[in-house]
Amino acid sequence: MTLSHQDTIVTYPSGALVAHATVQHTAAAGGLLAVVTDETSIHPVDAAWPDQPADVGVLRVNGTEIPIRDAVVAATDGVELFLGDDIPVRKGTEGWAFLVAHLVDTDAPAAEGDAVELEADATLRRSLSVGHTACHAASLALNRALAGRWSKAAREDALGAPDFDGIAIASSRIGELGSTDRYRLNKSLRRAGFDAAGLADELGGLAASVDATLAEWVAAGAAVRIDREGDRLTDRRSWVCELPDAAARIACGGTHVASLAELGSVHVAFELGDEGGTPVLTMTTRADPPA
Ligand SMILES: [Zn+2]
Repeated sequence: MTLSHQDTIVTYPSGALVAHATVQHTAAAGGLLAVVTDETSIHPVDAAWPDQPADVGVLRVNGTEIPIRDAVVAATDGVELFLGDDIPVRKGTEGWAFLVAHLVDTDAPAAEGDAVELEADATLRRSLSVGHTACHAASLALNRALAGRWSKAAREDALGAPDFDGIAIASSRIGELGSTDRYRLNKSLRRAGFDAAGLADELGGLAASVDATLAEWVAAGAAVRIDREGDRLTDRRSWVCELPDAAARIACGGTHVASLAELGSVHVAFELGDEGGTPVLTMTTRADPPA
């Protein structure tokens, strides 16, 4: 068997829900069947940076509609198919193709060469897109709110504030209409010039400051788009938001709404915890879109 050496074409970055595709290969995968197509509209979860969860949806083949149980990034060296955490190389490694694997029940009548239609659930996609856009906007508002705590020059974000989000982020999880971001306030961050003193007593004020910036940006109706260097899974994509002061740009493989106005009101909440002696700041972001 020879597996495809071209990365899957992905149409979800432009907001597509439906794709017409051809099955390239199928493989047994932990009690399910992995179906790889040449093109897909289904957003897969990425094991290396699992921020946005997989779409739910269906695969239609030979007159049958099959529920997609999960969708994951996969990779092949042309011989074997590796899924998710089992991928042994970094994304973009030469000689490897990076694919979207749709996981379906093993009795699904899908075989190599079949023409299929894929359709992502519109309601879940919409609420994940709201959540992901809110996540990026909140991260920029957080950078602005924390700018005064830096005593040394740090890498800057697109708006000229020290990039606290980019430097301290430990994990980001997108959910429906919101997100949870965890930031490690470790020694190297403090050595880089970030002062965390007294933060625990200022979490309410920090949230109010972030909320006020977000309200201003939402009121401005800042346009959001995805810039992409190509239409394949591994082609570099960026979230671009035309904020009042400047266009912000963040590398991103997820899905988004077209304007911050679609978020409605956005509120954040903070918690300061401790993981093995390292303080961890958690920001929970929640959007309340207009009906
Ligand atoms: Zn993103």
